[in-house]
Amino acid sequence: METRVVKIDIKNIDTEAIEDAGRIIRDGGLVAFPTETVYGLGGDAFNPKSSQKIYAAKGRPSDNPLIVHIADLSDLGKVAKDIPDAVYKVAKAFWPGPLTMILKKVDNLPKETTGGLDTVAVRMPVHPVALDFIRAAGGFVAAPSANLSGKPSPTSSKYVIEDMFGRIEMIIDGGDSDIGLESTIIDMTSEEPMILRPGFITQDDLLRVLLTVNIDETIMSDTSGKAPKAPGMKYRHYAPKGDLTIIDGETKKVIDYINQKVLTARADNIRTGVISTDETYSFYEADAVKTIGSRNDEASIAKNLFRILREFDDEDIDLIFAESFSNTGISMATMNRLLKAAGHKEVKL
Ligand code: AMP
Ligand code: MG
Repeated sequence: METRVVKIDIKNIDTEAIEDAGRIIRDGGLVAFPTETVYGLGGDAFNPKSSQKIYAAKGRPSDNPLIVHIADLSDLGKVAKDIPDAVYKVAKAFWPGPLTMILKKVDNLPKETTGGLDTVAVRMPVHPVALDFIRAAGGFVAAPSANLSGKPSPTSSKYVIEDMFGRIEMIIDGGDSDIGLESTIIDMTSEEPMILRPGFITQDDLLRVLLTVNIDETIMSDTSGKAPKAPGMKYRHYAPKGDLTIIDGETKKVIDYINQKVLTARADNIRTGVISTDETYSFYEADAVKTIGSRNDEASIAKNLFRILREFDDEDIDLIFAESFSNTGISMATMNRLLKAAGHKEVKL
């Protein structure tokens, strides 16, 4: 398939290109588009064939539902029903933005889009290109992240092109993603709302408008033996090609441990990488030392994780060590993705 790649300036949006993208969706095709979280791989949410094409293009298991993206709150009732008042409170506070809500789906939304579930995940992104594109597409764009299944979500068009070129009709290049991690997912169908996937919008943020917000206990561990409530969270995600281990402990001990491992690996001609921070960057000896950002700036750390995981692949790194981050605030999202990327391999010093 021919894939058209179109660069769109966020400050001067090319309406003709957006119209073309919208037409592709309405005709049953697929378009990758920028959002503030990561790039999405979009199709018409009401066309079951489009959703099937999304699964095929990604190599994604079809029991892993898609997120339906809308551009106007007045469209919410066309995809979801029995919407509790609390949903509108949350929408008022956090939409448009990096938050996805799980609601009961309307009957005519195809099961292909919701992975066979009676519920639907809905989000209204804030990225202006995404909003214009969703409207041009008819208002309801089903989209997971625009990566091949199992790879880190793409935070720039470079990685969308790497994974999706030749598989879809169009890729809209709108620059780098601001947030760099996928949306927070909150289930609004349960008695008490529950976070199924941590993201930039935190539990504390949500507690400003909701009385209680629980967190799915499977998010940070793989030992509870329970299946996560968001089907996608059970798959090994975000994995770089190299073998990744998280090292947790006092800073100096972590640096010494990693440098020792790097020396041993080097003797065997194994290429090593480290995910460090601005504060520790200069102390490591590995072949590829990356800084993920400053420990004083949680958002920068979240933003750089997926890019760095992809860079290790580009540089053929075999063995990767990462520093550990806290389980609170935005770092909870970073740590959740890092644990999945490492297949939960963590050394506590
Ligand atoms: P992605 O955008 O690629 O991360 O994929 C969408 C995520 O939303 C996956 O983790 C899905 O499991 C989750 N999701 C979508 N719809 C639902 C739903 N109805 N209930 C629970 N999780 C969902
Ligand atoms: Mg994904």
